[in-house]
Amino acid sequence: MEEFPPSLIDSSLVKAYSSDIAVENVLEAIQIYGGYGYMKDLPTEKLLRDAKLIQIYEGTNEINLLTAIESYMDERG
Ligand SMILES: Cc1cc2nc3c(=O)[nH]c(=O)nc-3n(C[C@H](O)[C@H](O)[C@H](O)COP(=O)(O)OP(=O)(O)OC[C@H]3O[C@@H](n4cnc5c(N)ncnc54)[C@H](O)[C@@H]3O)c2cc1C
Repeated sequence: MEEFPPSLIDSSLVKAYSSDIAVENVLEAIQIYGGYGYMKDLPTEKLLRDAKLIQIYEGTNEINLLTAIESYMDERG
């Protein structure tokens, strides 16, 4: 049975990991489209800014990782 609500460690790691994967995937999409993927004509340019934002707001990924590590250390005493 999965924990609900998710622990601070799980939610911090999932937020950081999923936003990193989102950026990675949009970058790949832009690369596939080539120069056109970089232009505003395609939604990939906006998708990259949106994905990048998720790495920054609601706690930057660096802070989420620090939070997860601190919480893990606290749990271990
Ligand atoms: C479009 C947009 C919408 C937003 N909406 C909201 C909103 O609705 N409500 C709200 O409250 N805020 C909102 N924000 C603000 C957002 O939450 C902050 O931008 C975010 O928390 C980062 O804070 P900062 O910009 O002051 O960066 P800083 O805290 O100055 O950090 C700058 C960089 O340093 C890194 N850093 C800082 N401290 C450490 C550390 N100890 N170890 C390692 N790295 C570190 C950070 O990870 C980051 O990469 C929004 C921002 C944007 C761009």
